[in-house]
Amino acid sequence: QNNIFFIRVFMILFLSCIAFRNNLCLSSIPSTLKSLPLDGHFTFDEVHFAAKDFGNRYQFLPAAILHPKSVSDIANTIKHIWQMGSHSELTVAARGHGHSLQGQSQAHRGVVISMESLQGPEMQVYTGNSPYVDVSGGELWINILHESLKYGLTPKSWTDYLHLTVGGTLSNAGVSGQAFQHGPQISNVNQLEVVTGKGDVVTCSEKHNSDLFHSVLGGLGQFGIITRARISLEPAPDMVKWIRVLYSDFATFARDQEYLISLGRTFDYIEGFVIINRTGLLNNWRSSFNPQDPIQASHFKSDGRTLFCLELAKYFNQDKTDVVHQEIEHLLSQLSYITSTLFLSEVTYVEFLDRVHVSEVKLRSKGLWEVPHPWLNLFIPRSKINNFADEVFGNILTETSNGPVLIYPVNKSKWDNRTSAITPEEDTFYLVAFLTSAVPSSTGTDGLEHILTQNKRILEYCEKAHLGVKQYLPHYTTQEEWQAHFGPRWEIFVQRKSAYDPLAVLAPGQRIFQKAI
Ligand code: FAD
Repeated sequence: QNNIFFIRVFMILFLSCIAFRNNLCLSSIPSTLKSLPLDGHFTFDEVHFAAKDFGNRYQFLPAAILHPKSVSDIANTIKHIWQMGSHSELTVAARGHGHSLQGQSQAHRGVVISMESLQGPEMQVYTGNSPYVDVSGGELWINILHESLKYGLTPKSWTDYLHLTVGGTLSNAGVSGQAFQHGPQISNVNQLEVVTGKGDVVTCSEKHNSDLFHSVLGGLGQFGIITRARISLEPAPDMVKWIRVLYSDFATFARDQEYLISLGRTFDYIEGFVIINRTGLLNNWRSSFNPQDPIQASHFKSDGRTLFCLELAKYFNQDKTDVVHQEIEHLLSQLSYITSTLFLSEVTYVEFLDRVHVSEVKLRSKGLWEVPHPWLNLFIPRSKINNFADEVFGNILTETSNGPVLIYPVNKSKWDNRTSAITPEEDTFYLVAFLTSAVPSSTGTDGLEHILTQNKRILEYCEKAHLGVKQYLPHYTTQEEWQAHFGPRWEIFVQRKSAYDPLAVLAPGQRIFQKAI
């Protein structure tokens, strides 16, 4: 009986000690952070904005937000957390513009670093033979565009929307209609400065610390925080010819897209999208475009069919207008679109690149921007794209789509397979992006549940048909799924994690690794 009594007392003391230790760690977190010497500052109360993202579906409250003014603010914070080791549950998420979809830039009870607060270094453009711009990891692409244009220069590879940060897109890939030619944004970076999960500040490039350089590019924020990037530039054009043509047959549409991307520098931008059963078609998708032949165009009827729109852009300078017209005419004459559906527009280079922002302003004014966005982005091998289109546009998404569905091919040769980005194993693959918006609290076909079920059906079909599809901006909930996503690259991903962030402090919102405490 005495023994039982002593065992009980021992157990109570032991459990109390653990609880005390955990409480001590948790309750003392803000005060230990408060004692760090910083140029910027922490906030501990107003933390709600960091528990929100564009997806509008996941909310994880952090313990603190760091507003860094210098790279050493970031390094000191991470080093401090690294030194606390497994005694602290603190994790760290860099938040760029918070345009993730499923909480990827959030940190439950951790520290969120507001990268847009990082002021330095000042953006600096270097002209010369191989021009580039040095920018902060928290810089928005729209600002980089405006700054480099002052020197007649521009980055080469973009995303469709420019109000995203450099660190955010480089942690994924950064893909748009220029990628067929220049590769994604991660193929157009010369150098990075990174703060690793141990708090070390490291400059890396193809030549120096190249393993860290390649790890971080497409690395989903797992290996370090990008504090500075050197982006490659080229001469900027003034104007853009922007062209849309329609197809009713998917195979013909895809054949023309693939033909164009195989030719090298023809058009400067090649994308496409699917128009699913929209009746007022001609008043809708071509709103700021003019038909080449207004009479023929007015006779064209969609008859409720699913149509495929090829979208092209050709950059030019105003003194070369005639030449560019001839080139475009020649290229279009080789394509098999429905002839009455050629629509053209001419806009400035900035108007073209910043086009999605115009929609953002409109949607915001109607209260339709801050709604749930159950987006699904997939990379599909070229050899499987017709099967995919048959099933998805023929069976699953036949009636309506609650947002644009983009579809365009890119050349794998423009991707560097040493980076962490995962793509299918074929020379050409398609980006298919279901960019849906849900109507809050709707239980109909425009509601969140319906759209999520549709996404699930698409993913299940891909799995069952063994299409070799990879998710872009991937989201999984178990480590087995992550392992399957990375396939043979999983081992190297894990090795890189143990080299650069062994305690799994960074980017917990991706839910790939869990910090051991
Ligand atoms: P956040 O959402 O803040 O962060 C994303 C991830 O990166 C998080 O894990 C975060 O911790 C990490 N991270 C952020 N900053 C850093 C840093 N400095 N260092 C290390 N890790 C960091 N993508 C395309 O490729 N092509 C497109 O055309 C495209 N269009 C889009 C249009 C819209 C309207 C939206 C909302 C998104 C679009 N995206 C596109 C997706 C977009 O590229 C990603 O969601 C990107 O992560 C958003 O950047 P962000 O600055 O908001 O990053």
